[in-house]
Amino acid sequence: MSARKHPLGTVAELDEQDIKDFDENLRGDLILPDSDEYEDARNVWNGLINKYPAVIARVKGATDVSHAVQFARDNGLELSIRGGAHHQAGSAIVNQGLVIDLADMDSVHVDPEQKVARVGPGARAEDVLAETQKHGLATPTGSAGDVGIPGSTLGGGIGWIRRKHGLGIDALRSVEIVTPDGELRKASPDHNEALFWAVRGGGGNFGVVTNFEFELYEVGPMVQSLGIFYPADVAEDVLATFREVMTDAPAELTTILINGHVPNLPPMPDELAGTDAVGILGCYAGDPKEGAEAIAPLRDIADPLIDMSDVMPYEMLHDLGTQMYPWGRKYTHRSVFVDELTDDIHDTVLEQTEAVPTPMAAIGVWPLGGNIGHGPDAAYAWDDKQYMITIEGNWEEFQNQSTLDWAVETERQLRREGAEGAYAGFTGVEEREWEDWTKQVYGDSYERLAKAKAAYDPDNVFSQNVNIDPDDA
Ligand SMILES: Cc1cc2nc3c(=O)[nH]c(=O)nc-3n(C[C@H](O)[C@H](O)[C@H](O)COP(=O)(O)OP(=O)(O)OC[C@H]3O[C@@H](n4cnc5c(N)ncnc54)[C@H](O)[C@@H]3O)c2cc1C
Repeated sequence: MSARKHPLGTVAELDEQDIKDFDENLRGDLILPDSDEYEDARNVWNGLINKYPAVIARVKGATDVSHAVQFARDNGLELSIRGGAHHQAGSAIVNQGLVIDLADMDSVHVDPEQKVARVGPGARAEDVLAETQKHGLATPTGSAGDVGIPGSTLGGGIGWIRRKHGLGIDALRSVEIVTPDGELRKASPDHNEALFWAVRGGGGNFGVVTNFEFELYEVGPMVQSLGIFYPADVAEDVLATFREVMTDAPAELTTILINGHVPNLPPMPDELAGTDAVGILGCYAGDPKEGAEAIAPLRDIADPLIDMSDVMPYEMLHDLGTQMYPWGRKYTHRSVFVDELTDDIHDTVLEQTEAVPTPMAAIGVWPLGGNIGHGPDAAYAWDDKQYMITIEGNWEEFQNQSTLDWAVETERQLRREGAEGAYAGFTGVEEREWEDWTKQVYGDSYERLAKAKAAYDPDNVFSQNVNIDPDDA
């Protein structure tokens, strides 16, 4: 195998006959650097990422996945798994390697009687909602509609009903997974228990999940939403009231405070877009009338810039998430967890928002708690934490270095004040030399995860992720 110059970069060259044989074995399609679809297929959500895979296998089923894993191993190619392609580090794509692209495996089957959904790994949150909400049901997904189900679920799955119904991993009943030896296995509380424990928080380290089975809960389809933006000069009061209200809030109420600006999207009036502001978004997973009462103290802190709180379709909340973080913009999102919003943490959130180098950057405060962690024991290490804080570098112009540095500095400051850990979905776009995302994401679960990695993937075939080293077992 040699390297060859593609007009847009350097890609590996594979033996033509091997490629032909591989193609004939697949039900799906191969996308090569000279294919028309190549540019789209290598494109990911974060506009900072630009990678050139040698071959992309757009698979149609578990047997295709198994062939692709074998092909990568036989040809010494690095392997990546493309779900919704939303991980900001671009781990869905690998330079010079083989991408298993799951986009065509996006089926969603709902059994409303049993309250169970079987979901293919090419599905996004909005696909699952479209099928489940017809029956007034939902499973916990990420909070933006176009985020992929596989990456977000296997990292934890922190969404709009988390405090009432837990995380995605809490609702997961079983998975089907192609492990590095090419075998299709079931993992559940009764089958391959160690693997089932490991994938729920250990992400793509153990193989390619080809099917998810989720429990469904009654949600909506109309829910009381919260969507209010206050001027930045009352941010201190807003944060203080938010902290007080969310400490005693019912589990039905899930919120996110975003300290930054009014986003530039409908229904925001043009003159408000971009104004420095602190917003609180939320969802009440219960009777909308009770929801209106629960959110009332959060709507009465000061004169708002805009208050869009209303009874609306649960799906619409996810559309908002998609629009707020559009495909192709530049991003670095870091994260930490805290037990409480101490005064020091509170001050850092305020000060570091003032220090943002680009008007689109923000800091998010996500209350957790409630019923998070009610599912079977899982590798996800942070289910006892009360808040996640996300440091959101979002930008379009040339502030690359200043925004990357601001995000790093904000995270370090929060850690100096007692924050710890990190969420697998928000691990920044880079790892600086003193940093170790693996340690931050897996925390106390790492030793047991390393044992599972050594058992299922001793050669680290699945390395494009927050990687667990099998040699650490
Ligand atoms: C706008 C936006 C909003 C977000 N909001 C939330 C949120 O509310 N809650 C939340 O929890 N997270 C959220 N996230 C983070 C999200 O969890 C990660 O970005 C996640 O990786 C997205 O999943 P994906 O399938 O799109 O990932 P991809 O980029 O396709 O894949 C990321 C990694 O996941 C693994 N993976 C993907 N598919 C499989 C598979 N079938 N089998 C095994 N491993 C696989 C691989 O290691 C892969 O490298 C958000 C991200 C964005 C961009």
